[in-house]
Amino acid sequence: MTTVRCFSGVRPTGPLHLGNYFGALRNWVAIQATHECLFAVADWHSLTTEYADPSQLHRWSRDVVLDWLGAGIDPERSIIFLQSDVVEHAELHLLLSMITPLGWLERVPTYKELKTQLTTKDLNMYGFLGYPVLQTADIILYKAERVPVGEDQVSHIELCREIVRRFHHLYHCDIFPEPQPLLTTAPRVPGLDRRKMSKSYDNTITLHEGPDAVQKKIMPAVTDPARKRRQDPGNPDVCLIYDYHKLMSNAERQAFVNIECRRAGIGCVDCKKWLLEGMDAVLAPIRERRALWAARPDDVDALLADGARRARAIACETMREVRDAMGLARSVTRGRP
Ligand code: SF4
Repeated sequence: MTTVRCFSGVRPTGPLHLGNYFGALRNWVAIQATHECLFAVADWHSLTTEYADPSQLHRWSRDVVLDWLGAGIDPERSIIFLQSDVVEHAELHLLLSMITPLGWLERVPTYKELKTQLTTKDLNMYGFLGYPVLQTADIILYKAERVPVGEDQVSHIELCREIVRRFHHLYHCDIFPEPQPLLTTAPRVPGLDRRKMSKSYDNTITLHEGPDAVQKKIMPAVTDPARKRRQDPGNPDVCLIYDYHKLMSNAERQAFVNIECRRAGIGCVDCKKWLLEGMDAVLAPIRERRALWAARPDDVDALLADGARRARAIACETMREVRDAMGLARSVTRGRP
């Protein structure tokens, strides 16, 4: 039985949080059992928005790797690497950028959205417009057949397929599989202010925060705003704490809170304490595994070096086919494999 190859990456912009975990990482851990997985820390992608001050990039990349390892990404099973350690990403990006019409990039929905949202940064840069081309290079360099994404990112995979078709058409070849989205069900994770959990809103609970830090964030959190006193019945459907119970408490506790809140059978302070137990059941194993890896920086370096070596072996093979298809002369001086 051949295993389907799957690629995914994360733009490092700081430590990962519960939104990242429930939105993607938890699924990645699961698909390792059924797919051959490559997970890239897409540090070059971070430069599309952080180009003015890349000084934190190394630290952020490290945080992402530690969070992955903490969550259960297994370096024995999956290839974990830094995008910038495999320079073939840049070469394929360059070649694909020659054949990608500008109009395809300008109509990408997230391009327009981010440009309007990130008003503090000047995103009128070539790199920012071209990031879906780099993303395409990331995926097809490994001939990945599946890319785990949420519904909102399906258009990126469609663009990737369009670029692949155009490449095959122009150079009369059939090198790349057309990658398909591996749609994963990901719950929406609200931040502490009930907007989407996001670093840019400063409303996150990160994967490595200790129980005390989490408690400090949860205990003062707003619950059902209409429940002014303990004896007022509450409505869990409008309460952040119940949103989190649904993600992190067992079914029995969720049902109990749902019933008792509505008839004022429980108070919000107790409800939050029970939530903290559920949260710790999720976060403690991640935190502990993460701390074990963080204490062994040389081993983390070694696993990244090994990941880059394994990724490059695949990437070099693909680039040989790409250059042949495009009729590019091989350079003896560069000593290509
Ligand atoms: S009892 Fe729980 S679910 Fe109900 S309002 Fe208070 S914190 Fe929210």
